[in-house]
Amino acid sequence: MYPDRVVSGMRPTGSMHLGHYHGALKNWIKMQSELPCLFFVADWHALTTHYDDPSVIERSTWDMLIDWLAAGIDPSQATLFIQSRVPEHAELHLLLSMATPLGWLERVPTYKDQIENLSNKDLATYGFLGYPLLQAADVLIYRASQVPVGDDQVPHIEMMREIARRFNHMYGKEKGFEEKAQEAVKKLGSKRAKLYNELRTEYQQDGKEEALEQAKAMLDDAQSLSMGDRERLFGYLEGSRKLILVEPQARLTAASRLPGLDGRKMSKSYGNSIALREDKASVEKKIRTMPTDPARVRRTDVGDPARCPVWQFHQVYSDAPTQEWVVKGCKSAGIGCIECKQPVIDAIVKEQEPMHERAQQYLDDPSLVRAIVADGNDAARKLALETMRDVREAMGLAYT
Ligand code: SF4
Repeated sequence: MYPDRVVSGMRPTGSMHLGHYHGALKNWIKMQSELPCLFFVADWHALTTHYDDPSVIERSTWDMLIDWLAAGIDPSQATLFIQSRVPEHAELHLLLSMATPLGWLERVPTYKDQIENLSNKDLATYGFLGYPLLQAADVLIYRASQVPVGDDQVPHIEMMREIARRFNHMYGKEKGFEEKAQEAVKKLGSKRAKLYNELRTEYQQDGKEEALEQAKAMLDDAQSLSMGDRERLFGYLEGSRKLILVEPQARLTAASRLPGLDGRKMSKSYGNSIALREDKASVEKKIRTMPTDPARVRRTDVGDPARCPVWQFHQVYSDAPTQEWVVKGCKSAGIGCIECKQPVIDAIVKEQEPMHERAQQYLDDPSLVRAIVADGNDAARKLALETMRDVREAMGLAYT
């Protein structure tokens, strides 16, 4: 089997805010120490909605990379790169498009939603329809096993899986596959080869899933096999196809959602966001002036945290005793709203302090970020080329 790997990207369409941090970046930071991770700036994806004004993309790309590093993404653990610097993404997108039914793209739920939500833009374009397919190429090209997503993105991962399955079925037919697979079985050594054949029979004749799992574990341990033989043997276990693309799993993120200052989704375009590296005075001002429960007109009026966006901030930032203090104080008019907001201000400022410090070195010397990304681009491209070699060969485009 191919090694476990995580792939995820973000579109550079504006500066990053605390909603992005709590919704996605914190999760990336956690994952980078658990599995090999590739995090990319999805600049081509940004063009699908910003094709008429791409000026924001280049600036946001570098700002976003500094935000990632400031938040705690560690380039010694994760690979950071820019999508368009690995042109094989486009090649795989094109090749996958040849065999992807139009209906698969049209039925992706976010397609219609986005067209309705962004009604000020003309999104009746070829690029926008193909957006989920480009996403599939972004993931499949690294044979990623896991993709961190929110609930709304699960249908995209399902489609990626269907695309990988269809590709393997169509193009995994290798000339002389059976013979090559049997040769590879022999390379396991006589004891393991015997076990492999027994487990394969148990799975194929009796449908025993445990036999399949045991055989896969054995192949994982068989260090002497080449990558090609290993994939043949994985494919041979289940049928007669080579596995060229890997079906990724959705890794659902239990991210805490930080709403905007007005309680709606945090978004720069709604004017309700706090930037990831917002300065302290501005954070204080924004929180002090953010709306509260409309029923609390005077200090003596009782309120209800359930109707107040500040409470949602407390749910992300405050410990249980503070939350209890808020609920009691609000419902009894024992505390004022400015008093209630102070722990939130303190927590945000504390959270941002190390981010400002980490960002400073990259702001002082932008060549550091350029160097990190250049290394990441090279590393990502190397992995992408490994997959593309197999894809080109399978589709008859190797010309050797
Ligand atoms: S006391 Fe706190 S929770 Fe209650 S309305 Fe004021 S800011 Fe909101």
